[in-house]
Amino acid sequence: MYSDKTDNAYILLTPGPLTTSKTVKEAMLIDWCTWDQAYNAMVQSVREKLVALAVKKAERRTDYTSVLMQGSGTFSVEAVLGTVIPDDGKLLVISNGAYGQRIKNIADRLNIHNVMLAFDETKIPDVNKLAETLESDQAITHVAVVHCETTSGILNPVESISGIVKQYDKTLIVDAMSSFGGMAIDVDELQIDYLVSSANKCIQGVPGFAFVIARTEMLNSCEGQARSLSLDLFSQWREMEEIGGKWRFTSPTHTVYAFHQALIELEEEGGVNARYARYCKNQSVLSEGMAKLGFETMINKQHQSPFITSFYYPEHFDFHQFYNRLKAQGFIIYPGKISKCDSFRMGNIGEIYENDIHRLLKAVAAAITE
Ligand SMILES: *Cc1c(COP(=O)(O)O)cnc(C)c1O
Repeated sequence: MYSDKTDNAYILLTPGPLTTSKTVKEAMLIDWCTWDQAYNAMVQSVREKLVALAVKKAERRTDYTSVLMQGSGTFSVEAVLGTVIPDDGKLLVISNGAYGQRIKNIADRLNIHNVMLAFDETKIPDVNKLAETLESDQAITHVAVVHCETTSGILNPVESISGIVKQYDKTLIVDAMSSFGGMAIDVDELQIDYLVSSANKCIQGVPGFAFVIARTEMLNSCEGQARSLSLDLFSQWREMEEIGGKWRFTSPTHTVYAFHQALIELEEEGGVNARYARYCKNQSVLSEGMAKLGFETMINKQHQSPFITSFYYPEHFDFHQFYNRLKAQGFIIYPGKISKCDSFRMGNIGEIYENDIHRLLKAVAAAITE
């Protein structure tokens, strides 16, 4: 059952942690010292590569920086919210799923003044409502939105959202956790001030840290604002800048080295556009094959991301049994997260190719006729 490319017992069709290459896992076989110069130089090269991925025009990269932060993706979302919004600031959260709701929960917990604009989980946000809210509530200083809402797999229109946010001159925070590295996102063109993503999603690393791409000038104005000691994005950034790639506290050295290898493999694949094409192919083969087997997708094709797909339960469906039957054939899928109807999800990201999807579809066909 072990696959040659990944050395895994199972293929993970999940939004992260996901199936990684064998070579990414092998990069973790070396112990590094968090203070060592060679390690710190590697961290710096990772930081530079991230800025290069996020900003297409080389001459525009000097306006941006990147910060790596220990923990899962949520820790970095919390680090951004807790550091960059001043005490007299107010956050507007645009939400159409669980990750948008989580941004609101973080703001509430940190006592950040906030308001949420909530939309149906299967629909993209209405930008006219965004404009109305920004027009009527002058206290708002920051706007946060999730790019690919992993709850459903919907891809939110970050370009039109940014257009309005910038028309009202607000700071834009984007949770691009499950999209960055899997499709072209230019923070400079899109005028995103803070973008958050994590090691174990489309860049295909292993879990342990996340990262923030930030407009340097903005982050530089956030000294002393953080509501947490360890999740102080400004202090982490300053340490990485001043001591060239050093983290403030123990860094996840093995994970960072695996991520460095994953970035090399992203380049070898042909960069973000080649990876995007592979994910799109995975997604279309999956949704077409599943449709033939009687599974209906939840999100309209026009707004469906290539990263993760939600399917409605067909009639007389036992998810637990279905899950176990697929697992017995070597595939791990994901339960649904939509609150109002029964669904499950399948991820298309990670070291997954079209032939894996064909094998999965055979396994699904066997599972429903067993
Ligand atoms: C994965 C993910 C997160 C972070 O989740 P963690 O479990 O903390 O890594 C945040 N937002 C989105 C949209 C995600 O897909």
